[in-house]
Amino acid sequence: MNLNEVLLAAYGKSISECSNAEIYAALLKETDAMASQKCHASGKKKLYYISAEFLIGKLLSNNLINLGIYEDVKAQLSSAGKDLSDIEEIEHEPSLGNGGLGRLAACFLDSIATLGLHGDGIGLNYHFGLFRQVLSDNAQTTIPDPWLNDHSWLNRTDITYPVRFRDLTVTARLYEIHVTGYGSVTNKLRLFDIESVDESVVKDGIDFDKTEIAKNLTLFLYPDDSDENGRLLRIYQQYLMVSAGAQLILDECTARGCQLYDLPDYAVIQINDTHPTMVIPELIRLLMERGIPMDDAISIVSRTCAYTNHTILAEALEKWKISQLNQVVPKLMPIIEVLDNKIRRKFDNPSVYIIDKEERVHMAHIDIHYGFSVNGVASLHTEILKNEELQHFYKLYPEKFNNKTNGITFRRWLMHSNPELSALITKLIGDGWKQNAGELKNLLKFRQDEAVLHQLLAVKQEKKHQLAAHLAKTQGISLNADSIFDIQVKRLHEYKRQQLNALYVICKYLEIKSGKTPKTPITVIFGAKAAPAYTIAQDIIHLILCLQQLIANDPEVNPYLRVVMVENYNVTLAEKLIPACDISEQISLASKEASGTGNMKFMLNGAVTLGTEDGANVEIHALVGDENIYIFGDDSDTVVERYKNGSYNAKQYYTENPTLKKAVDFIISEEFAEIGDKIRLTRLYKELTTKDWFMTFPDFERYVEARECAYTDYENRMAWAEKMLVNIAQAGYFSSDRTIAEYNQDIWKL
Ligand SMILES: *Cc1c(COP(=O)(O)O)cnc(C)c1O
Repeated sequence: MNLNEVLLAAYGKSISECSNAEIYAALLKETDAMASQKCHASGKKKLYYISAEFLIGKLLSNNLINLGIYEDVKAQLSSAGKDLSDIEEIEHEPSLGNGGLGRLAACFLDSIATLGLHGDGIGLNYHFGLFRQVLSDNAQTTIPDPWLNDHSWLNRTDITYPVRFRDLTVTARLYEIHVTGYGSVTNKLRLFDIESVDESVVKDGIDFDKTEIAKNLTLFLYPDDSDENGRLLRIYQQYLMVSAGAQLILDECTARGCQLYDLPDYAVIQINDTHPTMVIPELIRLLMERGIPMDDAISIVSRTCAYTNHTILAEALEKWKISQLNQVVPKLMPIIEVLDNKIRRKFDNPSVYIIDKEERVHMAHIDIHYGFSVNGVASLHTEILKNEELQHFYKLYPEKFNNKTNGITFRRWLMHSNPELSALITKLIGDGWKQNAGELKNLLKFRQDEAVLHQLLAVKQEKKHQLAAHLAKTQGISLNADSIFDIQVKRLHEYKRQQLNALYVICKYLEIKSGKTPKTPITVIFGAKAAPAYTIAQDIIHLILCLQQLIANDPEVNPYLRVVMVENYNVTLAEKLIPACDISEQISLASKEASGTGNMKFMLNGAVTLGTEDGANVEIHALVGDENIYIFGDDSDTVVERYKNGSYNAKQYYTENPTLKKAVDFIISEEFAEIGDKIRLTRLYKELTTKDWFMTFPDFERYVEARECAYTDYENRMAWAEKMLVNIAQAGYFSSDRTIAEYNQDIWKL
């Protein structure tokens, strides 16, 4: 690409005369055109990865990298006195996802295209995303996160489908975003929107009339479902996605010459969590509409659909009331009833029925009975599915169950987010790792090479400085880049246990107050959005923000300890935080985090994990060995057992451990009440001391010990750098290229 020519043609100006916004707009257009001209994957069979979320992040740099013109464009800009990272600032991150599940879908699209596989994503085009988080008065407030403007990567198509609900019909229009693969083909992310959407119905923060379906359907991802209208709206959204998606799939397969009976040879539909489950009855319905008898339609669809389970948390396994489904999509209920009746006739076990005694439809049960594959997302998670959560199903269909340990794309999470480390790696082992992540293991031969270890530390230091500069500019926070960066960034949820991290911070604060100061100062960084209706999560954010204020204003403590909560944690921020991290907090209650992918991104960037034996941490532990990770706390067997016998008593731990008690009591201390909100802090205190549902107290002492041990080890810089190196070297397994190759080999067979 000759950028000067592009800009001359567009604006009649040279690079140096253009504003960053002008350069961004022209680069977007040119890059998108290049992407569309790339070869599109093809083949008889096609994968449709259907998901409520695609947390894709900004696209400019990633597309430049994948198209192989990143260095060239960067050089052209810099010789005209422009910086690509300033141009990137213009782009607004698409807010089409919430957390790990959506980011996984984005990494998968990258790898599917990179491996040259024939596959697209299908989802919805939310105008305002989840929400934008604003931190003020030590609390989270929420505003819309508009990302669609004149210059977005979204391309409108002429394809529309009617989607018929009980009380209205909307026109769904298909929009597309090009998904570039690294050095190979381009695929697409297909996003449906409705023609009648009206952004102006949003009033006052993120509130809107939830009953105006024809206007609000594609405004927000996961609209508040704490009331009945919110729950109905989610069903409307899900049906919009699957009905339009199913019509598109059938049209495309037919266009490729598919006879409907041969659908499984032309399409495989990967259902990402339960949100798209209605695609199963909807496809059956559409096939019947086209003249196929019901039993045949059921068989065809069952051989086309595969399901990925992402969680064992009960609240996330969706159950919709029959009455709710009848209000939104009555025509699906008779089909769901037939699906349920077949199961009742076959199996004498109510726990595997689709419809339960309370007249609720268990969406996951539809997926398991009427899909041909059920996969978990890390080995521990899949074992828990087989032996605990879904054991009744596993006994029925052992052949359906399989594991696909999650992965991340190294293009975004190393090449783009950390060009300094990428360059060092390439200097040491060549650049084969970019296509074949397993080659990172070749770094192991530098374990004892002090010169290399010094360079590794220098890269980390540079990334810490860059993060500090960014947070100074955007949030007015000054970080000490010579401190230990200890980071926990992920959605806020009690099972992820940000509260455990906060309790440690309180301990450290009290310790410093009593005169015991750490050798190297510590910066504890949090980043997390919390669902607006999730009260305890809001209380935990409040606690963290109050600690941030307390410590920042205490000159006795702040030279040694700082707490920072970054605002509106998203992919763009993750790309800056993760490369700067020394210690990666992965402290979920064992058995509760299905996999985690944040843990993989940190490892790849040379952070050392402090974590529980949970999710993919188990596999990280096995790869790096005891010496290069800090594992603490009860294992999943112990936790599962403790839940089963209902023996957990938080109060007992609280009364028997004086250090823990002091930290917990601090939450409701007079000193803290001067900053904090009494209602919030008291509620949190009560929750912890009487329930502590995610069992932070039993792990507390061992957590403090492990964290202190990590801080002590950090002092020996060469030994620490060796741990960093081993983590990077062993991260190859977590490339999403590996994950996708496994999906294709075992499930999709493209
Ligand atoms: C990777 C990622 C996540 C998932 O993080 P976990 O620690 O696995 O929960 C969430 N949000 C963003 C922005 C991410 O990049």
